[in-house]
Amino acid sequence: MGQKLRVLFVASEGVPFAKTGGLADIVGTLPQALEELGVEVKVLMPYYGMVKQGKAPTTLIAEDLEVNLGLINHTFNLMAPTDPGAPFYFVERDEFYERSQLYGTPRGDYFDNLERFAFFSGAVLPFCRALDFHPDLIHCHDWQSALAPVYLRHRWGGEDILAGAKTVFTIHNLAYQGLFPRDKYPLLGLDWSFYGIDGLEYYGQINLLKGGINSADAVTTVSPSYSREIQTPEFGCGLEGVLRTRAEQLHGILNGVDYQDWSPETDSLIPAKFSRKDLKGKAASKAALMEAFGLSPDLADAPILAIISRLADQKGFDLVEQVLPQLMKQKLMVVILGTGEEKYHRWLEAEAPKFKGKLGVKIAFNNQLAHLMEAGADMFLMPSRYEPCGLNQIYSMKYGTIPVVRATGGLADTVTPVGDPKTLGTGFVFTDYTAEAFLKAIHTALDAYANKDLWQRIMVHAMTQDFSWKVSARKYLELYKSLVG
Ligand code: ADP
Repeated sequence: MGQKLRVLFVASEGVPFAKTGGLADIVGTLPQALEELGVEVKVLMPYYGMVKQGKAPTTLIAEDLEVNLGLINHTFNLMAPTDPGAPFYFVERDEFYERSQLYGTPRGDYFDNLERFAFFSGAVLPFCRALDFHPDLIHCHDWQSALAPVYLRHRWGGEDILAGAKTVFTIHNLAYQGLFPRDKYPLLGLDWSFYGIDGLEYYGQINLLKGGINSADAVTTVSPSYSREIQTPEFGCGLEGVLRTRAEQLHGILNGVDYQDWSPETDSLIPAKFSRKDLKGKAASKAALMEAFGLSPDLADAPILAIISRLADQKGFDLVEQVLPQLMKQKLMVVILGTGEEKYHRWLEAEAPKFKGKLGVKIAFNNQLAHLMEAGADMFLMPSRYEPCGLNQIYSMKYGTIPVVRATGGLADTVTPVGDPKTLGTGFVFTDYTAEAFLKAIHTALDAYANKDLWQRIMVHAMTQDFSWKVSARKYLELYKSLVG
């Protein structure tokens, strides 16, 4: 057998160390799936306050490694988990990363995100040198690490340690582009010739994501539907033209999920395990969920509709806002867990007391509660305006919590509609981005719920779906091999 393929992941979050969204789930699980296919993977991430203070102890690996980028010249210490299980490495520079959040507070982004993440991307070279690690391929994720492919193409060409290294750039969400004022460009240490229309420039600003798309050897996104959608003006967030010029190198690879973490058969965060062969344990989660949200015991027979989400426009909260008054007139319960934009915090905090016992709201990031909600709810709502892949609908299916989703991006690729004559279906799907269409889909789901036999068959069918990493990791490996040769 030949030498192992060596891949470096460069990413701004990853479970179990730091998470704001689906990116962290991917970065936390895809490396292991690749290792099972014989790939050697290392992951580079910032050493945030939450990593430093987290449960996993860390050890100093190397001191005073230098990043030299134009005006950003600092050193960092390289840290790693003391337990060698996870192949993670952390860039420690407290003035940049030791903060309460990763990218900003509900009021807005941190003012120095350009400096923070240019430094992080710049750390790739000293990291590889310190470990004498020659990556065959560098796999970067989202705008926070988009400069690494740019540096590889335009600054690091002569570095032996990176000789021949190819780059893959994965877009987890095209709406977050890393836009910064033009006058910060000298900080990046790049010649102005790379600023232009084929480089990082975007309507007079620096656009890091555009730099990554233009510089990487291959670009991927997290579902086949989203890879097509982002080449259109409706979903392209202004970068559809740039993406179309790279259409040949653009691939849609559906995210996998980690069923060791997200399966009712093994979940240690729920009161009783259950499976499609024995659903009894789900009732214990439903009872615990009702208690956690203070829901009325009189409604025990009624369905619980759950939402776990970043509170952002993308997720369709304007539709939730419009349908909630209608839903609250019916015999059902709604539970919402999320953090994000302040306008939604205020709205939910105002609504919750009006519907005590029927509407439960927690403005928090709480993984344990997220597991309990997946296990205890009956339906899961995702009326997203757009959805690159979406993970919660996939988790929901495994817990027999039937998704009600809008047919966009990864939601369209993972949920088969109940009502399709060829198959039983795994969820309820609507197309138009309107409150009427969303409400109609919920009502269809409620009608099906009333038919216990039908509902149980849909649950069992949803629980048999398999979106584990096996298939997706193989697709990444094929792509890596096609680039590395
Ligand atoms: P996105 O990455 O756009 O936020 P995904 O559906 O791809 O959406 O992934 C969201 C991930 O973050 C899921 O694992 C979900 O359970 C988790 N999550 C989101 N908000 C919360 C929260 N408030 N508490 C706990 N987990 C959350």
